[in-house]
Amino acid sequence: MTVFPLISGKSMESAKERIFLSTPHMTGNEMKYIHQAFETNWIAPLGPNVEAFERQIADYIGVKSSLAVSSGTSAIHLALQLIGVNPGDKVFCSTLTFVASANPILYERAEPVFIDSEEESWNMSPEALKKAFLAAAEEGELPKAVIIVHLYGQSAKMDELLEICNSYNVPVIEDAAESLGSTYKGKKSGSMGLFSIYSFNGNKIITSSGGGMLVSNDEEAVIRARHLATQAKDPAPYYEHSEKGFNYRLSNVLAGIGRAQLEVIENRVAIRRSNFFTYANRLGQIPGISFQPELEGTKSNRWLSVLLLDPNHIDTTPTALKEVLEAENIEGRHVWKPLHMQKLFAGCKFYKHGEGEAVSEKLFKYGFCLPSGSNMSADQQERVIDVLERSFDAYGIK
Ligand SMILES: *Cc1c(COP(=O)(O)O)cnc(C)c1O
Repeated sequence: MTVFPLISGKSMESAKERIFLSTPHMTGNEMKYIHQAFETNWIAPLGPNVEAFERQIADYIGVKSSLAVSSGTSAIHLALQLIGVNPGDKVFCSTLTFVASANPILYERAEPVFIDSEEESWNMSPEALKKAFLAAAEEGELPKAVIIVHLYGQSAKMDELLEICNSYNVPVIEDAAESLGSTYKGKKSGSMGLFSIYSFNGNKIITSSGGGMLVSNDEEAVIRARHLATQAKDPAPYYEHSEKGFNYRLSNVLAGIGRAQLEVIENRVAIRRSNFFTYANRLGQIPGISFQPELEGTKSNRWLSVLLLDPNHIDTTPTALKEVLEAENIEGRHVWKPLHMQKLFAGCKFYKHGEGEAVSEKLFKYGFCLPSGSNMSADQQERVIDVLERSFDAYGIK
């Protein structure tokens, strides 16, 4: 009897190993902390891993206080609670971001107002923010908070943005979910807002499988966040509740993963930056290809390497690039679709950076995220570059 190899119709050529956008990269130390949790039966939420992880993050960022929670999204929700965002209140938010930046505004039935990007960091435009504040002041209703996102690891223009927000006395929440390990003028990204949040979701620069962190220099506020995140139980010998709470705490088992991951954050930043420079050196030579800029005085963790197509020089689109890579079993992604363009936020106000096409819409139309994981091998990156080079040749340079 002849036995045929089971390749189910696929050629060997198409059975190439998949290259993902960004996958968890374990250190080997995670199991040590997970074992400690099991040996001491700290399987419940809270426990020594949670406390250690919180202290470690606060020290690393250089803030007084931190609270480990179940996701970056829940950390944003808590920050809005602490600021006292109520139904009908306005909250300004970067438009070019993942939906999680703004979903918590909807949880509170508040009104998101979206702010365009500028070209130098792709983050919130101070010009657009000024316009939004002027309009809000005219309407007699300032926002309760401004959520500033640091896109793909690149810090926003914090000095300019903070100056505007401070002049109106409106607090800033930094959504640093993507920028752990990045710096802005020597300060850690996420150390400048009244509150900041990080995410340890599976595809972020470090992961706890799932989880997030709320950080602040306001220790009292973080104590209050801890109370709210633990079902808001009042001090009493029985179950006494006087306000709405949440079940948002991080599990002690998962915090063990986060602890080990944070120990290698600088290494992960170095690898992602090196991936970026390899892409930029090789593909940045091609007319019509540029990359997300790094603002002077800042250092991006380059969580994702993101290129930008110039339609005047190169005849392709992010959707076409995605298909070309997919045919080679490589994952690439569009830049976030701006939130003001989403059906979910239809009718929400949006303030543009300048005249003509919004910067965020242009970045969405021509931006593309490349595989950027710190566990991507040099051979794998070579495969990605090779496919892209061949595809740019095929599309031709205008
Ligand atoms: C990942 C991410 C979040 C949400 O974090 P989760 O931990 O997945 O809830 C929020 N904002 C931005 C910009 C993100 O990239």
